Amino acid sequence: MKKTIAVIAGDGIGPEVMQQAERVLSAIADGYGHQFKLNHALAGGAAFDKFGSHMPEETLEVCRLSDAILFGSVGGPVSEQHQIKWKNCEANSILALRKNFKFFANFRPVRLLPELAHVCPLRYDLVKDGIDILFIRELLGDAYFGAKETTIKNGKRVASDVSSYTEDQVAQVAHVAFNAAQGRRKKVTSVDKANVLDASKLWREVVREVAANYPDVTLDEMLVDNCAMQIIREPKQFDVVVTTNMFGDILTDEAAVLAGSLGLLASASLNSEGFALYEPSGGSAPDIAGQGIANPIAQILSVALMLRFSFNLEAEARAIEVAVDTALTAGYRTRDIFAEGEKLVGSKEFTDQVLQNIPVATCKTAG
Ligand code: NAD
Repeated sequence: MKKTIAVIAGDGIGPEVMQQAERVLSAIADGYGHQFKLNHALAGGAAFDKFGSHMPEETLEVCRLSDAILFGSVGGPVSEQHQIKWKNCEANSILALRKNFKFFANFRPVRLLPELAHVCPLRYDLVKDGIDILFIRELLGDAYFGAKETTIKNGKRVASDVSSYTEDQVAQVAHVAFNAAQGRRKKVTSVDKANVLDASKLWREVVREVAANYPDVTLDEMLVDNCAMQIIREPKQFDVVVTTNMFGDILTDEAAVLAGSLGLLASASLNSEGFALYEPSGGSAPDIAGQGIANPIAQILSVALMLRFSFNLEAEARAIEVAVDTALTAGYRTRDIFAEGEKLVGSKEFTDQVLQNIPVATCKTAG
């Protein structure tokens, strides 16, 4: 297979972990007979230095000419956000990409291996068998994109954000969720606030209609307040969770804590043409940048998601996931997930271990 990938490493730890992800991608290309052409482009502070913009037209053009986007992370230290180089850096970069390519669904797998149960803040008996949840958040509807108004009525300030969904928006993301569940444990939990909100009532109705097309998948419906509680009470009950933009924003951050470190979590944003962006869930971690100690797993697993969702290369995606799990099972840990008695390694050394577990050559040929 021949594919072109836009690679945008960004700022902080972005370039460090991207370098490791590229090593893994290259090993997959060699092992499975693929050709991946990488087109590097700038975003965030790195782009600002050269182009005076966090998301220059040059970078958008590189993305348009590619089959997928592999993104690192952008942004400067939280204490320097007032500086022009960093001001609104994340929003200018990420939202520009989201808007430009109309990414409507955000995938955030939250996995915790039993070996890492000690980095999860939940009680050991709740997570000792691991956690494996796929969150799918709708990205283009809800109050984020509805009409907004701040005004004065009867001498008092009033503000509003309209939260709305069309049935097409709901159906589109629901199909994505049921399709994903078919390749997993065949359960979708749809999260809404249908006891109060009209937009949620429509959400629930449409998700039920879509569910009728997937008789092999069980649909569970849950109110968002209950879901927030169930995620920490019994995370094992979830397989695929599909929800609205606002609820997804909050629930995915809550669930991210279960994995123990932001350095472990990859994510993907897809549009209706199947074009997608893959990135770690965390930021540019300026506090540890330049030291070679960042956890490269989130960026490496972003490559696995890209191979699976954009290129339909399931065996290759699994090979990466298994290689990461094997390195963890063997006790290798970057500092963010390290505990006494384990093997403390840097980003490069951890990736060396992952590479050792990737098949060297298979009988597949380039296509
Ligand atoms: P952050 O996610 O960068 O860091 C939060 C904590 O998690 C830090 O202690 C950091 O060291 C740790 N961490 C994150 N990734 C790690 C990794 N791979 N390995 C080990 N530890 C890791 O969040 P922040 O500090 O609030 O933000 C820093 C900058 O990142 C800001 O400028 C923010 O705007 C930006 N940001 C960018 C994105 C993005 O590019 N999509 C997302 C979130 C934040």
